[in-house]
Amino acid sequence: MNYYSLHKEATNVSFKEAVIKGLAPDKGLYFPETITPLSPDFIQHISNYSNEEIALEVIQQFVGNEIPENVLKEIIKETLCFDFPVVDIEDSIKTLELFHGPTMAFKDVGARFMARCLGYFNKDHDKDVTVLVATSGDTGGAVASGFLGVKNVNVVILYPSKKVSEVQEKQLTTLGQNIKALEVAGTFDDCQAMVKNAFLDESLLSKMQLTSANSINIARWLPQMFYFFFAYKQLVDKEQQLVFSVPSGNYGNICAGMLAKKLGLPIHQFIAATNANDIIPEYLQTEEYHPKPSVQTISNAMDVGDPSNFIRIQQLYNNKFNLLKEDLYSYSYTDYQTREAMLHLYKKCDYVADPHGAVGYLGIKTYQKEHPNTQCIFLETAHPVKFLDVVEPVINESLEYPPQIRSIIDKKKEAFSIENYEQLKSFLLKN
Ligand SMILES: *Cc1c(COP(=O)(O)O)cnc(C)c1O
Repeated sequence: MNYYSLHKEATNVSFKEAVIKGLAPDKGLYFPETITPLSPDFIQHISNYSNEEIALEVIQQFVGNEIPENVLKEIIKETLCFDFPVVDIEDSIKTLELFHGPTMAFKDVGARFMARCLGYFNKDHDKDVTVLVATSGDTGGAVASGFLGVKNVNVVILYPSKKVSEVQEKQLTTLGQNIKALEVAGTFDDCQAMVKNAFLDESLLSKMQLTSANSINIARWLPQMFYFFFAYKQLVDKEQQLVFSVPSGNYGNICAGMLAKKLGLPIHQFIAATNANDIIPEYLQTEEYHPKPSVQTISNAMDVGDPSNFIRIQQLYNNKFNLLKEDLYSYSYTDYQTREAMLHLYKKCDYVADPHGAVGYLGIKTYQKEHPNTQCIFLETAHPVKFLDVVEPVINESLEYPPQIRSIIDKKKEAFSIENYEQLKSFLLKN
């Protein structure tokens, strides 16, 4: 499978090259040249297949013959080493729990898949690849864990100082080995801007092989399609109109869901639920896209002021606003509303949600006012324990650390502080 740059000024590349490069030389995001729907028979009988079989079917055309099938199967097996349960919340509302992986965030799947693809592609090279990634919270931990110990790959993670939770910070600063954390005096947007700078810096690129592990990388983006298939597989009633509410920041996850729909998965509509960073809700109302500086909220993995994957969503709908509007609803919620939703879920549904999941739940509540008789699933994208300082005061209970968290919480943080791009560059050149 070949990929083209959405800026259309770079040459098309193979899956392998797109994974290694991350971003195209013209700064565009890579996008598959063709998208072929899966056989309706497969989708109809999806319950007969294992998660690994489904994943292979879904991802195969996007990898093509660049990874031998037996290796791809092994990569999928190692990627999907945990569960993805659908849990009942209220009448016609369910949640798909995506937090059962090693770092308890949905990004584990993309990070693990990408790490293994990159490890495979780089296995015969003597030069290391450096993965450079900016995180607003969960990406860093998932990437750190996903890449830990992968040979010939170094990982450098930038995170905004004091803007990630304690658990998140520990997850990205305590692993050691091939993982280095940089604590940036600034916001997530500053981190992301520095990463983008590095990818355009010829003098840096001539000295090292850099790649990204943000959701712009196709190997992180594409496997997120699996979730939507796994959820569908578990539904008892496959006839009622199905709607997913996806807590969205960079819009990679929801974009993967929309790609799953293109492959033939019967999804009626999508809800992009977000916090005060309301660029997309505003866009869908006004047809005007205005990036803004990000605003800090309690659902900090969605504190994004210029969602990088939105351009892929537009491409999926051939840049036709009216077509997109038929499939996508988007709402923004305040932190106050998010806390109220968490409390409601706890008191009325006996469910402890994290702030991102709660925003997803709110999206359904708004949507169902106008669309009754729909079966809605919100994605629970992180375990509540990752946002302890927000969740505990709201529900007035203390949460217990699961084993994945207990094993890192007392470890010593190791991070290097930086303030600007020059400091990033000299760090990269020295390490
Ligand atoms: C990254 C993240 C999101 C947002 O996902 P995007 O693909 O960037 O839209 C939502 N919730 C949590 C917990 C996350 O870590």
